[in-house]
Amino acid sequence: MSAIPVMIGMPRPRASDAEGAASDLPGDPLVDTYGRVHRDLRISLTDRCSLRCTYCMPEQGNEWLARSSILTLDEIVRIASVAAASGVTTFRLTGGEPLLRADIVEVVRRLSRIPGPDGRPVELAMTTNGIRLPELLPGLVEAGLRRLNISIDTLRRDRFHVLTRRDRLDDVLAGIAAAAASGLRPLKLNAVAMRGVNDDELTDLAQFALDHDAELRFIEQMPLDAGHTWDRARMVTRDEILDALAQRWMLTPVPERGGAPAERWMIDGGPRTVGVIASVTAPFCGDCDRLRLTADGQLRNCLFSTTEYDLLPLLRGQAGDAEIDGMLRSCVRGKLPGHAINDPGFLQPARGMNAIGG
Ligand code: SAM
Ligand code: SF4
Repeated sequence: MSAIPVMIGMPRPRASDAEGAASDLPGDPLVDTYGRVHRDLRISLTDRCSLRCTYCMPEQGNEWLARSSILTLDEIVRIASVAAASGVTTFRLTGGEPLLRADIVEVVRRLSRIPGPDGRPVELAMTTNGIRLPELLPGLVEAGLRRLNISIDTLRRDRFHVLTRRDRLDDVLAGIAAAAASGLRPLKLNAVAMRGVNDDELTDLAQFALDHDAELRFIEQMPLDAGHTWDRARMVTRDEILDALAQRWMLTPVPERGGAPAERWMIDGGPRTVGVIASVTAPFCGDCDRLRLTADGQLRNCLFSTTEYDLLPLLRGQAGDAEIDGMLRSCVRGKLPGHAINDPGFLQPARGMNAIGG
């Protein structure tokens, strides 16, 4: 079965205020100049990690963020509260490895209590490599964590060791088992597909997810590694992933993707599903509703942006919440219609994925 074609969308600029151009008033939704409403804030808690995935971090020589620049819990809560007052409904904790943060349970507790725009609590999710989940998950769930994505690129110990430069597959598997045994659903597993590395394991990974009542989401490798070694030829494309899965299962597209990064397919008629995040070959920028906050207080409107909006001086000076809201709006206003990975002049951001927050 051949892969299913995709429409690649770019947003068009709003012609006039009457169509709903960006607003500058605190409390109004965070709408960019292309009409995209921002409801999802990705919060990176640290650039440190227990693994060294080759597509994300260098083996050695990484320049860590200065500890004095890392946002405190109170600073994170302040930014998140301002964002929620202006329409953000989901916070996703990421990193680096978010579970390395010593106050992670308290971070979850405080963020999960922030009221969203309709007065209901925001939804709190986390992307993690799963290491430390067995010990931390009960406390995280009790504190208010609602959704988990766990990354696993291979089920083979030797490969895992080479790919992450750490011999910790068993710890990741224990984390996934803990998540599967918990009540958190939907549970998602992330795998970056790489040619000659794990592309012979795609159906095994998808089956592993099904066996854990989870959805596997394959990610096209993006040019975001700190070592700047991304090579388009080694990237396994969306269509190649779908072709591999279609050798084993009948795939039926799930409609109503909304602003979600993953396209999803029902497996053999459903209800079980598999997803693909095809940022490179089928970008979904037209529906992007995401903003990012780095661990050192920089706002970003895109993974691939080379511009950051520095909140630290506001937080550590005398600025009021209206100024923080103003910075959020400047960041949203500066958002381009799409990333330019496929343009000849594309420039990779200076930070690696671990410092941006995936
Ligand atoms: N450490 C956690 C983890 O690995 O899940 C959270 C941070 S990690 C940066 C978030 C996600 O980004 C992971 O699923 C990881 O596989 C993905 N990622 C990192 N670098 C990537 C790249 N160059 N291309 C595609 N995905 C990448
Ligand atoms: Fe760490 Fe996640 Fe990056 Fe792997 S992808 S090095 S687990 S931050």
